[in-house]
Amino acid sequence: MEPLPHIVPADYLPPSRVRQARCDLIERIADFVLRHDLEVTGANLSAICMALSGSSAPIAKAFAEREMSGAPIDQRWLDTLARLDPETGGRLEGLEELMDQLEYSLLRFAQSAKSARDETSEHRGSIDAQMALIAEHAQTCGEPQALAAEAVADIDRVMALSRVMLDRIGEIEAAMQRSEAESEELRESLARARLEADVDYLTRLPNRRAFERTLNSAAQRAQSKSEKLCVAFCDVDNFKAINDAHGHDAGDRVLVAVAATLSQHASNQCFTARHGGEEFVVLFYRLDRDAAWRKLDGMRRAQAAKVLVDRKTGKGIGKITFSGGIAEVNGVDDTRDALGRADAALYEAKRAGRNRIVAV
Ligand code: GH3
Ligand code: MG
Ligand code: MG
Repeated sequence: MEPLPHIVPADYLPPSRVRQARCDLIERIADFVLRHDLEVTGANLSAICMALSGSSAPIAKAFAEREMSGAPIDQRWLDTLARLDPETGGRLEGLEELMDQLEYSLLRFAQSAKSARDETSEHRGSIDAQMALIAEHAQTCGEPQALAAEAVADIDRVMALSRVMLDRIGEIEAAMQRSEAESEELRESLARARLEADVDYLTRLPNRRAFERTLNSAAQRAQSKSEKLCVAFCDVDNFKAINDAHGHDAGDRVLVAVAATLSQHASNQCFTARHGGEEFVVLFYRLDRDAAWRKLDGMRRAQAAKVLVDRKTGKGIGKITFSGGIAEVNGVDDTRDALGRADAALYEAKRAGRNRIVAV
C-alpha cells in the first residue's frame, strides 16, 4: 500500500493508479484497433487515443455517435473525420493569433529600442557639447590659479565622471543597435516561417492550413459577389499498393508527380493544395459544378495518361490515377458541409471504380 500525502488535490491519483490508467488506455486502444480491423498508423492511433481518453470532446462525441448508430468505424470514416476535423480550424486560428502577437511585440520592441537609442544619442550629444563648453570656458577664464583650487578639482571630477558616463552611454547605444538589428532579423524569420507554415514540405503546394484560410475567404468573396465556388477532394487511387511495391520514398515521389500534374493544369481559376497524406484539394473560383467537373476531369485525364518511372531506381511504376469528388460551396456558412458533400462524392467515385470524378 502506497503512503498517501496528507493534503491532496481532489483529482490526485497515486502513481500506481496513474500507471494503471495508462495501461488501461493502451489496452482499450489496442482492443479498439483490433475490433474494428484498423491499420496501426499514427493518424489512426492519435484519433482513437483522443476519443478514448476524452482529450478531444468533439472527436470523442463523433466516435460515440458513430458507434451508437451501428455504422462501421473503418479507415474511410477515420479519413473523413481527419479531413473534416473542425478542431483544426481552431488550432490554426490559435497559432495565427500567437504569431500576430509575437510580430506585434517584436515591432514594439524594435520601436522602443530605436527611440531609447535616439534618446541616449541625444544625451550623449548634449553632454559632449557641455564638456566642450566647460573646457573652452576654463581656457578663456585664464590661468587655473585664477579659479579657486576646490572649484577646479570639482570641475575635473565632473569631467572625469562625464567621460565615464559618455563611454557607458556609447556602449548602451551599440547594444541597442544590436537589439534593433536582432529584432528586425527575428521579424524577418517570423515572416519567412509564416510563409513556410502555409507550404507542404514534400510537394511545395499550399498545405491544409493555407487551404482552410483560402476556402473561408473564397466563400466570403463568392457570397458577396454572388459568384460560384466549387471545392474538390482528390485522393490517389490504390496508393498503399504503390508504397508496398516500391517503398515509401518512391511513394513520396509519386505524390510530388501528382501535385505537379494538378498545378500544371490549374489555371488562375483554381487553388490547389495538399490536404494531407495522398489527398489533395482544389478550389474552383467562379466555376459552377459542371465547369468544375470538366476542369478536374481534365486534370484526372492528364494524370492517367502518364506512365511513371521511379527516377531513382529506374523501375517502372506505371499509371497513377486519382479519384475526385466535387461540391458547390453555397456561402460562408456552407464550407464545412460542402467539404462533407465533396468527401461523399469522392467516396462515390471510389465505389464506382476509381479514376473518375463525381460532382454532387
Ligand atoms: P484508395 O484508392 O481507396 O484511396 O486506396 P489507397 O490505398 O490509396 O488508400 P489507403 O487510405 O488505404 O492508403 C493510403 C496510404 O497512403 C496509406 C499511407 O501509408 C499512405 N500515405 C499517406 N501519406 C503518405 C506520404 O506522405 N507518403 C507516402 N509515401 N505514403 C503516404
Ligand atoms: Mg486517402
Ligand atoms: Mg487513396
